[in-house]
Amino acid sequence: MQKLTTREKIIIGIIVIFGYAYFTGSEIPVNYGLTNDDIDIIIKDTETGFDKAEKEVLGVTPGPTPQPVGPDPDPEKCICKGTGKIVQGDGHVSPCPYHTGDPQELPTYDIDENRLIYPSEKKQTQGGTGGS
Ligand SMILES: [Zn+2]
Repeated sequence: MQKLTTREKIIIGIIVIFGYAYFTGSEIPVNYGLTNDDIDIIIKDTETGFDKAEKEVLGVTPGPTPQPVGPDPDPEKCICKGTGKIVQGDGHVSPCPYHTGDPQELPTYDIDENRLIYPSEKKQTQGGTGGS
């Protein structure tokens, strides 16, 4: 077999890299075939495992797992407690999507800036540019 030139080695290398990227990329399933029920079962199994480990290793009877609190249509369960205002970790207040009462207070998504625009910002923007 004749020796490959540097140029041929580079071309073969590029073909191998792109071929590898193409074939490995196309074999990755989009959602790995897990349904929400499958995920719930995994979460429950994991929680059960942690509870069992806590009991056997630490000798402590685990209390109920705290659930994350967020916006909820039920004012009793909602993080705003029905006030319509959610105080964030950094101290700023966001309107609750369920209990704000006034849809004008809800932020809108700006696709160009790829972020939420809050009504307070909108007023500043409109004032600064003299409207749209
Ligand atoms: Zn709320």
